[in-house]
Amino acid sequence: MHLINFTHHYIQEVLQEGDIAVDATVGNGFDTLFLAKCVGKSGKVIGFDVQSVALAKVQRKISPDFNVALYHCGHQDMQIYLKEPIKACMFNLGYLPYSDKEIITQPDTTLKALEIAYQNLAPKGRISLLIYRGHQGGRQEQALIETYLQNINAESAEILKLEKLNMPTSPIFIGIEKR
Ligand code: SAH
Repeated sequence: MHLINFTHHYIQEVLQEGDIAVDATVGNGFDTLFLAKCVGKSGKVIGFDVQSVALAKVQRKISPDFNVALYHCGHQDMQIYLKEPIKACMFNLGYLPYSDKEIITQPDTTLKALEIAYQNLAPKGRISLLIYRGHQGGRQEQALIETYLQNINAESAEILKLEKLNMPTSPIFIGIEKR
């Protein structure tokens, strides 16, 4: 099972028509489209990526019926575009497959974006993270995220971690649900 499927299941469980959802790493837009379908025409998806070419491709794939706003902006600056509480936020870290492998999410900016997403999360809202450990900086990114999350009070959020125990370099899923 690819953990992306698990991620979608986790997020879909809390999203309803009309909700606001964030895709913090749009990339090829797979998650953006998934979120748009979950929140429907009355909802809104806000997406971020630092690669404008990727964003332009995704924009063309999305039906104008959906309310999807894509920003060529680092997710660490997402607060500017968040005006209301969000019900979900997805992070798919690392680099975009078949694209420039030099453009990789960075531990410090990922952590900042995660903090902002958590602060803006509505009660019962969920954040999903897929963390890749194979590339340079991946393990540092994992460590920073896990240290931050381990220090969140268990009464404030339920935080899950899933990994393939017999595959030490497989991606890691982390799910956060605000109480
Ligand atoms: N490794 C994943 C895909 C990750 S895509 C997989 O295999 O499926 C990660 C995306 O994050 C890329 O499109 C990249 O351009 C984007 N990205 C990198 N730094 C970013 C930042 N600071 N803010 C927003 N997006 C960023």
